[in-house]
Amino acid sequence: MDKELLLSILPEVEKPARYLGNEWNSVHKDHSKVSLKVALAFPDTYEVGMSHLGIKILYHLINQRDSWVAERVFAPWMDMEAKMREYNIPLYAMESQRPIKEFDLVGFTLQYEMSYTNILNMLDLAGIPLFQKDRNDSDPLIVAGGPCAYNPEPLADFIDFFYIGEAEEMIESILEVVEKARSQGWKRKELLFHLATMPGIYVPSLYGVKYDKNGKVVEVKPKEAGVPEYVQKQVVADLDKTFYPDKFIVPFLETVHDRVVLEIARGCTRGCRFCQAGMIYRPVRERSIKTLKEQAKKLLDNTGYDEISLVSLSTSDYSGIERLTKELLDEYEGLGVGISLPSLRIDSFSVGLAKEVQRVRKTGLTFAPEAGTQRMRNVINKGVTEKDLIEAASAAVEEGWSSIKLYFMLGLPTEKDEDLVGIAELAKKVLAKCDQIRRRNGTRPVKITVSVSNFVPKPHTPFQWEPMNSLEEIERKQALLKREVRGRGLSLSWHDAKLSIMEGIFSRGDRRLGQVLYTAWKKGAKFDGWSEHFNYDIWMEAFDQCDLDFEFYLEFPYGRDDILPWGHIHTGVSQEYLWDEYQKAIFGENTVDCRFEYCTKCDCCMNLNVAIKLLGAE
Ligand code: SF4
Ligand code: SF4
Repeated sequence: MDKELLLSILPEVEKPARYLGNEWNSVHKDHSKVSLKVALAFPDTYEVGMSHLGIKILYHLINQRDSWVAERVFAPWMDMEAKMREYNIPLYAMESQRPIKEFDLVGFTLQYEMSYTNILNMLDLAGIPLFQKDRNDSDPLIVAGGPCAYNPEPLADFIDFFYIGEAEEMIESILEVVEKARSQGWKRKELLFHLATMPGIYVPSLYGVKYDKNGKVVEVKPKEAGVPEYVQKQVVADLDKTFYPDKFIVPFLETVHDRVVLEIARGCTRGCRFCQAGMIYRPVRERSIKTLKEQAKKLLDNTGYDEISLVSLSTSDYSGIERLTKELLDEYEGLGVGISLPSLRIDSFSVGLAKEVQRVRKTGLTFAPEAGTQRMRNVINKGVTEKDLIEAASAAVEEGWSSIKLYFMLGLPTEKDEDLVGIAELAKKVLAKCDQIRRRNGTRPVKITVSVSNFVPKPHTPFQWEPMNSLEEIERKQALLKREVRGRGLSLSWHDAKLSIMEGIFSRGDRRLGQVLYTAWKKGAKFDGWSEHFNYDIWMEAFDQCDLDFEFYLEFPYGRDDILPWGHIHTGVSQEYLWDEYQKAIFGENTVDCRFEYCTKCDCCMNLNVAIKLLGAE
């Protein structure tokens, strides 16, 4: 890489700090002294990728070993990409500024289906063949992991292997195999075959897919003996014993989450039936308060941040949340360090917790009732009531909050228009109660933002068999909400319906979508997750050109006994359980949280040989 050329370009692009790579705590190694080079790639901008916890963990974990190096690479923004193409600068890793084509392994994090075209664009910018079948022994191995890898099929043409599950305890054995293969000159095919026999690894080129005349997947089978029929997700049994970084890279520019992140737990068994995270990250495993306090101290010392974010899928469900929050604040509030709790549930939110977190500063407050009527909340198993929400919002206003965001979804299974009207009615009731309190207390007027996203059925959830609303239906429902959610103190925000449609197609798609992805990328699709860059027409043209019916993927004509396109990826949760939950949804029956009540037999603990661990309470 010509560093002078790079330095001459950077002043001409927006946010040049995105491309510098010498931030505080970044790791720089001499490439001539390492035997394995890993590029951790995130198919979105620096600001989004730098907020991702998984990359932070893997970066420092891999760099612990002197003979390995891990560096970062993000999708360059349009202006930078144009300059790179103009001056023939290949995609490079930030720390060494070496082309990522020189690395042994490039690992993509898959957080969102609408970042898939960025993967193709990054490979192209790197000079790496896009299709896995075209790569040779000197090309890096392209691996992908993260929540979207639980349906790897739409990316099967482009990725050499997927890793399914939590990587901390498997990554070293995987990298040791790659290191050995490189040093002993194994052929690519030989290495991929070996990897395919390791736990959690899926090598799509070693599986064949058959379709029936209607386009439904009817078989996904290994092509060779020795390749497993299905791939089981890998989990960490004890979070207290697993690696967690004691430093984070401190970016030069503001990123989406620019603070110390303490991961207090993994998994959530509340059992909301639309929620993929709640099914694929089971069971619940917490870190102990002792470990978290030690980690907080090291991370604050090594970064200089003044905010700690306590993250998990449902922060307030952590069994020791009040004690942990109080003890952290007792220790650090004198130093001006604040705490944020990004995912509070309504029913476990308490006045005490609200008081604690606002001791230093108030962060935004968001509640997610998800549906406007009790009937609909029963369908999705969101076990909160109107009373819970009003009490939680009242407690927040009593403590001085004046701005509350309420999250809902439209297009849920069995939904009727009255459920949508229920969203507006619920928001108005919350506002009326909050207004009463603030008038009595003489505080600022309360603002309620109603944020409505579009329901997208996800693989491995009870709603994986459910058709998705059409574009016209989503737009009709959005118009209804715009009429209903209005008035002083109320505002409405919604998601781009066309973007949700495309997310729906790719989240439950099969291998044939690889052609559509490639065609759309060739026509200019990239940064599709950014609504200002998303171009629906390009995608429709791509479907036409590939002679595929996009509605097939929304209608999803699969039934209970059909082979699902992702059926060979096992999360530990049984299909029987998911189907039963789907049936219970239709009848509006609830399922309890196994962490607080009893095992509801999703089979995940048995299949993965792990158990629930509530260490926060100890
Ligand atoms: S509370 Fe529900 S929506 Fe939230 S993570 Fe758990 S299962 Fe998912
Ligand atoms: S197997 Fe039982 S205890 Fe374990 S996550 Fe599933 S329902 Fe919960």
